[in-house]
Amino acid sequence: MTGTTVPAADLPRVTYANTGVDLTPLHDFLDTRLPEFKARILGGTYTNCINGQSDTDGTSFTVHSPIDGVTELGSFIAASEQAVGRAVGAAQDAFLAWNAMGWEARVALLRAWAKILYARKYDLALAALFEVGKSRVEALGEADEVFDMVSYYCDEMERHKGYVTPLNRVFPHESTLSILRPLGVFGVISPFNYPAALLIGMSAGALVTGNTVVMKPSEGCTLSARIVMDTLTAAGIPAGVVNLVAGGARTGAALVEHPGIAGVAFTGSYRTGMHILRLVNAGPYARPVIAEMGGKNPAYVTANADLAKAAQGVARSAFGLQGQKCSACSVVYVDETVRDAFTEHLRAYTATLVIGNPERRETFLGPVYNGAAAHRMTQALDAARGQGSILFGGKRADVPADLQGGHYFEPTLVAVEKGHALTRDEQFLPLLALRTFTRLESAIAEGNDVLYGLAAGIYTEDATELECFLNRTEAGALYANRASGATTGAWPGVQSFCGWKGSGVTLKGGLGPHYLPQFMREQSRTVMED
Ligand code: NAD
Repeated sequence: MTGTTVPAADLPRVTYANTGVDLTPLHDFLDTRLPEFKARILGGTYTNCINGQSDTDGTSFTVHSPIDGVTELGSFIAASEQAVGRAVGAAQDAFLAWNAMGWEARVALLRAWAKILYARKYDLALAALFEVGKSRVEALGEADEVFDMVSYYCDEMERHKGYVTPLNRVFPHESTLSILRPLGVFGVISPFNYPAALLIGMSAGALVTGNTVVMKPSEGCTLSARIVMDTLTAAGIPAGVVNLVAGGARTGAALVEHPGIAGVAFTGSYRTGMHILRLVNAGPYARPVIAEMGGKNPAYVTANADLAKAAQGVARSAFGLQGQKCSACSVVYVDETVRDAFTEHLRAYTATLVIGNPERRETFLGPVYNGAAAHRMTQALDAARGQGSILFGGKRADVPADLQGGHYFEPTLVAVEKGHALTRDEQFLPLLALRTFTRLESAIAEGNDVLYGLAAGIYTEDATELECFLNRTEAGALYANRASGATTGAWPGVQSFCGWKGSGVTLKGGLGPHYLPQFMREQSRTVMED
């Protein structure tokens, strides 16, 4: 699969938060690029990659786009257990040379990789658009993010001089260094909703610190992973340093159960992440599992909020990517004195969001990912309808005949009682629960009383309320008064993204300054100088 060169460099970059930028030239460009991408990339036959070689050992499977359930993304290979074993073996064999290369040389190679990722950003974006059904802007944001992600981790390696730190001397002739050293082979397992960014981010963390990698992407997102693999090869990353094995839970299980794995970087659901953490650490000694998991992210709207701004930020975080972000806002706590006014703002803003084919420039909401997500949405809506609590939305969206194979829903607001499942469980749907409060402290306590602790947001112009939110909220990423998103939009080097409680296991975040040391172990080296 070959890439085409990057087009006019003056097209705007997309972050998840640059809402005011005129993206017309970018959309004009995509109008021509989309058909070209479909013809060049979609519907191909793609293999795994082990030790730099194409590998077909396993069972073939075909993936269709959630946009219409019909468009074929490609045919791929679910790697056999033996293939997974060979991939781990290849990564083990490559480890010594990759480590011996030294961090400066690895940083240079990863910077070359970042440039190639940038050159192929439209391929990465369009692959995500078709695989996940994300809007153009969401897909472009993801593709733009990966360049900053790899660059930021390279910057961090340089800032810490390869994590080599001279320690104190007890005697003048005795010198000691603390060195953070890589562990070996990392299994990198990624979810469906950010098929490029998460695979790349976790792999970059493992690679720049000197580990080698076996990547296992989400089954339906192997096309993105194939493009990522090609960019690694094009950047000159040596054979075996990164290997790709596609497949679902079985392939993932074969990887994490392999005794040659020194650590796992995982992003996905709480259930899978905790299972992997326990499994990998059931052996004779602990191995790192860097698991980043789900969220139940609240936003608080006080009587001192700019309600128009609050409505925009909440709607964008609740319904962007159809609510299928780990950081999606899925419950909003509103001061009861502004409840009706806020709800009206929210209804009005949400009514401007276009639902439909993500290939089109105006689309904000595409389909939910698959039949299982549609089933969860239908069940939640049936229950809410029975309780008479749907404030807006609440049904399947009208879409043209060519999209009938996809699952499109209206963004929905549901008023619920304290403790309702919609305030506690991650839904991963365009479904927002509304609660009212009379005391902000009580609302924050309620928002904290969940399994998760990933992101939270507040809208208030009152400094005391803001302070209360910042000090009491149990989550790793906090935002105040953001119109671009109440709880979403973390960017590499700008917002570190640490899952508290059931949202993570290491107490350190991705995208931030404490990410890389998690991929290493410390060694002190005392050498006599006389
Ligand atoms: P998932 O847990 O179903 O799957 C994630 C990955 O794990 C997939 O590649 C899957 O094939 C693999 N897997 C499944 N069972 C496995 C097993 N037994 N052993 C090894 N691997 C296995 O998650 P998903 O539905 O793809 O993604 C959505 C979830 O990811 C949500 O909960 C979301 O909040 C979370 N997420 C978290 C973050 C974050 O940064 N915290 C970011 C994105 C998504």
